[in-house]
Amino acid sequence: MTVRTRFAPSPTGYLHIGGVRTALFNWLFAKGQGGQFILRVDDTDQQRNVEAALAPILHGFRWLGLDWDEGPEVGGPRAPYYQSQRADKYQAAAEALLAAGAAYRDFASTEEIQAEREQAQQASEQFTYSRRWMAENDADIAKFEAEGRQCVVRLKMPREGELVHHDLIRGEVRFQWAREQDHVVQRADGSCLYHLATVVDDQDMQISHVIRAEEHLSNTPRQIFIANALGYPLPEFAHLPYVAEPGSKNKLSKRKLEKYLKNRDFAQLKQHGESIAERLNLEIDAEVFNPVIVDFYEQIGFLPDALLNYLLLLGWSLDDHTEEFSREEMLAQFSLDRVNKAPASFDPQKLFAFQDRAMQKLPIKQKVARVLPFLQQAGAIADPPPCDTAPYLTKIVEAAGDRIKIAGDILDYLDFYTADDQLEYDEKALNKRIRKPDDAVRLLTEFREKLAAVEQFEGESLEATLKTFVEEKEIKIGQIVHAVRVAVTGKAVGFGLFETMAILGRERCLARIERALAQ
Ligand code: GLU
Repeated sequence: MTVRTRFAPSPTGYLHIGGVRTALFNWLFAKGQGGQFILRVDDTDQQRNVEAALAPILHGFRWLGLDWDEGPEVGGPRAPYYQSQRADKYQAAAEALLAAGAAYRDFASTEEIQAEREQAQQASEQFTYSRRWMAENDADIAKFEAEGRQCVVRLKMPREGELVHHDLIRGEVRFQWAREQDHVVQRADGSCLYHLATVVDDQDMQISHVIRAEEHLSNTPRQIFIANALGYPLPEFAHLPYVAEPGSKNKLSKRKLEKYLKNRDFAQLKQHGESIAERLNLEIDAEVFNPVIVDFYEQIGFLPDALLNYLLLLGWSLDDHTEEFSREEMLAQFSLDRVNKAPASFDPQKLFAFQDRAMQKLPIKQKVARVLPFLQQAGAIADPPPCDTAPYLTKIVEAAGDRIKIAGDILDYLDFYTADDQLEYDEKALNKRIRKPDDAVRLLTEFREKLAAVEQFEGESLEATLKTFVEEKEIKIGQIVHAVRVAVTGKAVGFGLFETMAILGRERCLARIERALAQ
């Protein structure tokens, strides 16, 4: 049997972290066994602008490298992959359910159903529809229609016994049929609902494994009922625990951003992202600039593999200690029997640690390639980059070392790209290190002269020059080193001063010190 899995997003305009985790498990399970991963769009007839609402989702999949074998843009033998274009198939299935006696035409009004529901509530009983407006034959239909009623198609669910079902993650699950309702599968306007559509699509697309979020577990009995009634073979079902909020068991939600920001780690991650976005002059779309949404990570320069590695462990483990997985290792090792039953809570700090570790492991060439687009976006480097870009940028990235945790962190070093006469000084640092201290201006002027005369403008010789200067002048190192840093970078902090100066080169350092003195 070929393994075929699917991810079936509704086009919402964004890709949720929890959704990606579900998609990742589907992708790994299928691809790890040489099977196919299908993307299906659960749009509805009513939805407008599906393409626009789908674009960010497809973009997110591409960024993460989760390729789909069939679906939007790539097509496939089971096309169309949009529910809105499959109405004829659902219509045929609704008719087949009616013919098989597994569904009926129902002419009750919403108010009549509601009245029955309230009655059950008052009697503290479980609501079970009386089927009073169920049409049993053509005469009933004619009678109800004459009363001006409209009809929907409802499932004629069993009312006794139980369904014992084996879920690949949850094990044996039992459902009492009496607790199920006669769900509507086709509305009065002829459009069909999710339960019917999903069963028809899974059959049509030959899905072997339905791997989806736990919230769909309760939908499974009615979907099994439909599949049985239509004579479809059942796919295997695997219901994943959901991704929970930081530090809680509640489902992670895009809408609770305010609440999550009370969590320090979550707030820190968001702030880190904001500081990058600010320097890029990104127009922040508050809707998606949210660590619950995948786009956030792309915008600030996370590594897709680090995000996937973290998401893999949100609900799955190989053993009690292995944490790092390359994409190949994930594909080789993933199995459904090691998926946990309990929800795993989203831990921003841990995600960040995964990113940091992956970034530090990246070969320097790749690291440079990752940060370059951020400098281009910030307008520091042209696109395409001039041919001497790589050596200079490599020096900066090497010197910054593990300070660059996310690709966007390169923006901390924008001053390397600022024209010397445009360098902006942090006023506080300038006051503290150059304007206020008695001797600073004199010392900086004299040190500048030494720099002009240094033979080799390199880290070691610069350090030696500074040491000699400190000894000659009988000053403390702090009296000069901070002033020099502020003068050449405009800021109070940064990586090694001598490396910084060596990267900038003599002319630029001299020009910058002169400018600082003038201020
Ligand atoms: N469109 C549904 C959702 O986003 C798919 C559910 C399923 O996987 O059956 O939840």
